Amino acid sequence: MRFDVITIFPGMFGAVFEPGVVGRGIERGLIELHAHDLRDHTHDRHRQVDDMPFGGGPGMVIKPEPVFEAVESIRPHNPGPVVLMEPWGEPMDQRLAAELASEPGLIIVCGRYEGIDDRVRTALATREVSIGDYVLSGGEIPAMVLIDAVARLVPGVVGDPESLTQDTFSNESAGWPQFTRPAEYRGLGVPEVLLSGDHARIRQWRRQQAAARHGSQTKELKKS
Ligand code: SAM
Repeated sequence: MRFDVITIFPGMFGAVFEPGVVGRGIERGLIELHAHDLRDHTHDRHRQVDDMPFGGGPGMVIKPEPVFEAVESIRPHNPGPVVLMEPWGEPMDQRLAAELASEPGLIIVCGRYEGIDDRVRTALATREVSIGDYVLSGGEIPAMVLIDAVARLVPGVVGDPESLTQDTFSNESAGWPQFTRPAEYRGLGVPEVLLSGDHARIRQWRRQQAAARHGSQTKELKKS
């Protein structure tokens, strides 16, 4: 799967994605990540990507021309949807991550300043995605959140596919508390059931714990 990110800070992405699961996915050729400098698609001496808002008001707005030209230059290499990171967009969740992971690629546009000229949204973007109801100073961190959540669902990126089915949000009975050695640390023990070797009891305990985390404990206990 190929991710193309359009940003004024392309250098932010390397440090985040070189290490870890996504970095290994890149090394193994399962994922391609290209961060494109929006300023490379300007035509003036100052490489200016922003301008004052029509109608007045504070701050600056990202101009449409460099974004259109950046997407057009990427398009021959990436047939995927154009995703605009915006605080008012549809909420990023596991369902959306799975839907986006089925695409051949994504072209992600990161806003800055007061936002992006709205013609990018109306004429270029396929969808707008938010990572939560708060305002960050730029779309880069939201784009990283989206890429990480989507990339780990690309087949082969997470070494053991079973670990994906055990993730919180992958199903109602996943996302239980995890423990590793030592069995006692600073007086803090591990639930006895996990040391019992009784796999049926362990499964049941995990289901109950996950249900409690999902806030559906009462429902689950009524069922059993
Ligand atoms: N004035 C804009 C508003 O209130 O919607 C905020 C612009 S914000 C300072 C600059 C950029 O950060 C946005 O264009 C968007 O790309 C990104 N951004 C900020 N918060 C975000 C969020 N919660 N989810 C996704 N992108 C976000």
